[in-house]
Amino acid sequence: MEKDIFCRIASGEIPADIVYEDDELVAFKDVRPQAPIHILIVPRKHISKLDDATAEDAELLGRLMLTAIKVARLIGIAESGYRVIANNGPDAGQEVYHIHFHVLGGRRLGPLG
Ligand code: AMP
Repeated sequence: MEKDIFCRIASGEIPADIVYEDDELVAFKDVRPQAPIHILIVPRKHISKLDDATAEDAELLGRLMLTAIKVARLIGIAESGYRVIANNGPDAGQEVYHIHFHVLGGRRLGPLG
């Protein structure tokens, strides 16, 4: 099966503007930022979407959220505020089928919709 783009970024096969990485996760700037700060938090493990996660992934999902918090502090938007979003499936507009969290900040964000 062909690797998705985030698997290829996580393995170093294609470049990204990485802001944080560890054994399990990589965080990099979104190529089409929707806010002054727009970072993607991606596990190295391939899971296509939130709906495919199981109880086995509980720790990984916790780490994803903790890494979003860590990256927001690193980038300096913890105080001003930020939003964490995960899109699941077509109605959410999921484009890359590899679980990821968006961290958005750096300006006052509008209502969700
Ligand atoms: P989603 O709609 O939740 O699947 O979001 C996928 C996000 O990945 C979009 O915001 C894209 O701009 C972003 N994206 C796609 N390819 C890349 C890439 N090579 N490097 C960084 N961000 C990317």
